Parts: sequence; C-alpha cells; structure tokens
Amino acid sequence: MPGKPVRLLDLTFEQTEGLLADWGEPKFRAQQLWTWLYRDTTAEAERMHNLPRALRDCLANETVIELLTPVVELTSSDGYTQKWLFRLPDGQTIETVLMGYSARRTVCISTQVGCAMACPFCATGQAGFTRNLTSGEIIAQVLFAARRLTTHSSLANLPDLSSRRGVTNVVFMGMGEPMVNYQPMWQAVERLTDPRGFGLGARHITISTVGIIAGIEKFANEGSQVNLAVSLHAADDELRNRLVPVNKRFPIASLLKACRDYQAVTKRRVTFEYALISGVNDSLTDARRLARLLRGLIAHVNLIPLNPTAGSALKPTPRTQVRAFRQELEVRGVPATVRIGRGLDINAGCGQLREIHARDVTARG
Ligand code: SAH
Repeated sequence: MPGKPVRLLDLTFEQTEGLLADWGEPKFRAQQLWTWLYRDTTAEAERMHNLPRALRDCLANETVIELLTPVVELTSSDGYTQKWLFRLPDGQTIETVLMGYSARRTVCISTQVGCAMACPFCATGQAGFTRNLTSGEIIAQVLFAARRLTTHSSLANLPDLSSRRGVTNVVFMGMGEPMVNYQPMWQAVERLTDPRGFGLGARHITISTVGIIAGIEKFANEGSQVNLAVSLHAADDELRNRLVPVNKRFPIASLLKACRDYQAVTKRRVTFEYALISGVNDSLTDARRLARLLRGLIAHVNLIPLNPTAGSALKPTPRTQVRAFRQELEVRGVPATVRIGRGLDINAGCGQLREIHARDVTARG
C-alpha cells in the first residue's frame, strides 16, 4: 500500500534536501524545488521544467503541494479586499484575507481551525477550537494569495497600487491564537523570511497575540525583527476578564511586564489592538487608563471599531466617540490609529465567513 503523500510545504529546507537525497538527487535540487514552491508559487510538479522528468514524476506521485481548496471567494465592492474560505485536506475550513493599500498588499492568515481563547466579541472565538494548522497550511495561505496577485486578482490591477507585485506584508491576525501553536507558527515565519524560501522581510510580518506570556517571552528571544501586536481591548482586569477570558490566567500587569521585557530585549515598538465596543470599553476614562498603562513603553494603539458578529449583541463605538477616544490617547503621548473597516461587505472580520458558511450548509443539509 502506498504511504501517505509527503506534504512539501510542511518541510524545512534540510528536510527537503533529505527527501531529495533519499531519491538519489543532488543537493542543489532542493533550492531549485524551493524556488518553484516559494518564488514562483507553483503548485504543479509538472511545470518545474528545470527538474528531470523522473523527479517531476516522483514529486507528482508521492508528494502534495497545494493544501488549500477555495470553497468561497469574495471580493469587496471597492475591489480592495479579497477573502477566501479554504478547505484543508482533512475537510476543515479556514479563512484568509488579502487587503490592498496604496503600495501594500497584506495577507491576513490563520494559524488554527477555530480558537480556544473564547473572546465573546470574536466570531472565531464564538465557534470554539478544532485543531492547530501545520506550518505548511499556514504558509500555503500566503502562497495562494501571492499566486492570485500575479494572475487574476482584482487587486492586481487597481490603479492606485504601485507596480510592485506580490505580497508585501503578512499579518497573523486571522483565525486562531498564534502563540499557542508556536512551533508551526514560527516555522512558517522562518520559511516566509528565508531568502531560499519566500524571502519576505521580517519587519513586514506581524504576529498578533491575545497575550500568552510564555509565547511573548519565547518570541522576544528569537532575535528577529518580526513585529508583535497584543490584543488588549481593556485597561483594567475586571473588564478584560470578560472581553479576553485568558486574562484570568495572564492579568494585565503580568502581560504588560512581558511586553516591557520584550521591548528591553528587542528594542521594538509594540502595537496594542483595542476593539472599541460601544458603552463597554470606550469611555474617556478607559482611554486615560489605557494611556497610563502604556506609559514608558514605545507603543502604538490600533483602535478597531468592533465588527459586529451574529453571536453577540455588542456594537461598535460611534465615529465621534472613536475620534474622542483617540484624541484622549494622543494628548497623553500615546500614538493611535483607527483601523479602517476593510471588506465589511464581505464579512472580512475574523471567523465570520466560516460561521456564515457553516450556517448555510446546515440550512441546506
Ligand atoms: N488570537 C490573536 C489573533 C486574533 S484576530 C489575537 O487575539 O490577537 C486579530 C485581532 O482582531 C485581535 O485583536 C482580535 O481581538 C480582533 N478581533 C476579533 N474579532 C473582532 C471583532 N468582531 N471586531 C473587532 N476586532 C476583532
């Protein structure tokens, strides 16, 4: 009986070399193969014309490259955001979003099927946890988006995007908690930044965490320029316990200490994400408390007016209050930006498409 096919995107460079050596191929074939996989984003062995025919056949018969099948593909009405619901080889589904800014094309990727963190305002959190993604499944999302950008994405031809092609930024802000799937997440980062692989600059990658302290500590010691974003959402423990339940294990003081230690080691700015929820965490007192909390840190606050979800009655903060909240931070020396709602018409918020798809399938079945 034939064994399970090897999933090429799950392999490190050394593992790729090992596989090829087992087949009697010289070492340099590994780089040739990686150039096809990560630079040309090719998913068909047949097209790798500088590889010998016998090797191409071997790859075609015994390995799998593409791990994602698009189930739903949506483009926002302005054409600047594309979103996919992908089916994984075991039938599970994940979401990936591609956003075009002036010179940027940012891919927002998932690290888990679902999420165990149970933040009540988040559609993924509402649906619960299924499983971790492998490094290959994480990377495949970036490669899929990169391939679309060079072929038939609506984003490829927008007039105000510069002529630079391909993915320029990757944010780990899709489904799941990257820091509890640390090893595959970090292997994905390594292959995305490896000049032999995808070759993206580390400073163009951001990992967003709910605030897993052991993960932040480990991340601080990687010696990398990858950015850290922390989902704060509240400036006092009583409120954060409700909005981000993991706060009960890692309360604000210990989280902020981990961020300060991270900054001492890396000298890098930390981004704090703060979803503005009407009447819950958006008063000027909250803003002042937040500013006090971040004192002494080189920080940036990313304010995200809540993206409403079906599973919660929470509402976004009205625009005028968003402005007032931001101003309250700025006058206290805390730089803050408001994240513009991207792709609201295509349910681009974390976990929303999967939730709607599941509902549709249930309704049909
Ligand atoms: N688990 C990681 C990545 C989650 S998604 C983390 O917690 O950081 C990235 C960001 O989107 C997080 O800050 C998350 O809290 C936020 N988010 C999730 N659902 C949202 C919603 N409905 N409205 C606004 N922000 C949301």
